[in-house]
Amino acid sequence: QHHLYQAPAHLLQDKVILVTGAGDGIGRAAALSYARLGATIVLLGRSVEKLEKVYDQIEQEGGKQPALIPLNLETASTVEYSQIVQSIEQEFGRLDGLLLNAAILGDLRPLEYYPLDLFSKVMQVNVNAQFLLIRTLMPLLRAAETGSVILTTSSVGRVGRANWGAYAVSKFAVEGMMQTLADELKNTSKVRVNCINPGATRTNMRANAYPAEDPGSLKSPEDIMGLYHFLMGNDSAEVSGQSLDAQPK
Ligand code: NDP
Repeated sequence: QHHLYQAPAHLLQDKVILVTGAGDGIGRAAALSYARLGATIVLLGRSVEKLEKVYDQIEQEGGKQPALIPLNLETASTVEYSQIVQSIEQEFGRLDGLLLNAAILGDLRPLEYYPLDLFSKVMQVNVNAQFLLIRTLMPLLRAAETGSVILTTSSVGRVGRANWGAYAVSKFAVEGMMQTLADELKNTSKVRVNCINPGATRTNMRANAYPAEDPGSLKSPEDIMGLYHFLMGNDSAEVSGQSLDAQPK
């Protein structure tokens, strides 16, 4: 029932939360709604213009002043990751939440015909970059009283499906990373780690995967925020190692 969670007005008051892919789609909706619940948002994404629009909207709505980090997860160097950690450390001293949302779809075609360079690119963005963010940000998450890490999975990350290629493989890896990390952290830290499967949601990625579908038939990113709120707020403090659906059948 966690997808029906109704957040109290100040659920995320005084929390510092980093959202990746915050400029568009589900990440944008999560950044805006976390800000409305009182959090200070660190907006991370590829396109600066999109991030600036979200930044402006948060300020217009009277939210806490966000931080903005343009970063291309496909090409970012370890030096760039360290700089991000340093700037968050200097400005806030801790990180209460990390929503790892950014991902790419790659191509829909059988693995037999999947190009290696595209396979590597999808794995770089959807897996390696997630690992690097977690690894470099972990000291800041440990410094928070109740840290929450949310990774983003998909139904094709639980049961393989023809033609979903590197994307499906990458989401299986995300589930594995979540389980491994949750097990490692359970006795040594208050940081919890879970996955969200958003389910079919009206975004550019969904439209690219299903070009013939009527977007009006889908839930919007705003509609599916219940689980995003629950897992980021303290009501889920005891929940870790779970892969949950934002839109259960
Ligand atoms: P969108 O394509 O709408 O948004 C993806 C976001 O990730 C964008 O803000 C994009 O930035 C960012 N991003 C992509 N590549 C990079 C990169 N190299 N570096 C930094 N940022 C990057 O996707 P959704 O909102 O639909 O997807 C969000 C998450 O939900 C993903 O993990 C996806 O796999 C998952 N998901 C979505 C479903 C759906 O139906 N929508 C269903 C199941 C899972 P920019 O806009 O600048 O390109």
